[in-house]
Amino acid sequence: MPRLNLVVLGKQGAGKGTQCKRLSDAYGIPHVSTGDILRAAVKAGTPLGEEVAAIMDAGALVSDDLVNRLVDERFKEPDAKRGALLDGFPRTLPQAEALEELLGDDGIKLCLNLEVSNERVIERLSTRRVCQECGNIYKDTDIEAISGTCSNCGGDVIQRKDDTPEAIATRLGVYERDTEPLLAFYESRGLLVVVNGDQEMDEVTAALEAAVHERGLA
Ligand code: ADP
Ligand code: ZN
Repeated sequence: MPRLNLVVLGKQGAGKGTQCKRLSDAYGIPHVSTGDILRAAVKAGTPLGEEVAAIMDAGALVSDDLVNRLVDERFKEPDAKRGALLDGFPRTLPQAEALEELLGDDGIKLCLNLEVSNERVIERLSTRRVCQECGNIYKDTDIEAISGTCSNCGGDVIQRKDDTPEAIATRLGVYERDTEPLLAFYESRGLLVVVNGDQEMDEVTAALEAAVHERGLA
């Protein structure tokens, strides 16, 4: 069976993480989030984590070489044999080119872009809280956020350091400058699908699954 490699694009707070988790369950392929991999390294205090912590807190991008290597390693793991849902990678043109080279002929099957307005994502990011253990997302008004304890795994629920107004502004600027050019890149390869990310979560999931289904990919 050919590999189901899917790229999910969209601004910070567009809902990539939530949707990727769902699609990962639906298609039995791993959710590969470079942000999650990097945050785990920071939390574990590895040399890699120490190298990237300040960059991430400021909302800037870590180097292409570094993330390219991480993804290369991740694709060598057995669970990626059937494909992967890529979340947060690629996010620059050099990363997209490196990915094409890495995957070769059995490359990206589709690029799903979750479209959401800036106002909406700023609102979502500034009120979101996350579980440090399982990654579950909550709103600041949820009981888990108020108590600081995840109802899924008991882990600590915190506000990400890059969900401050300054870092959010930086991240959205970086997205526009470095990541938006990828839309034309995937469009020119006939791989781009745009989905309205400003709908109920279930509706977004349905639209994404329909796009995958329409192309006979799953
Ligand atoms: P968000 O998209 O909400 O900012 P992510 O979890 O995808 O969050 O990424 C968090 C941070 O990790 C980014 O701001 C950046 O510093 C770093 N990062 C993640 N993926 C990449 C990547 N592909 N290239 C460069 N930096 C990355
Ligand atoms: Zn949790």
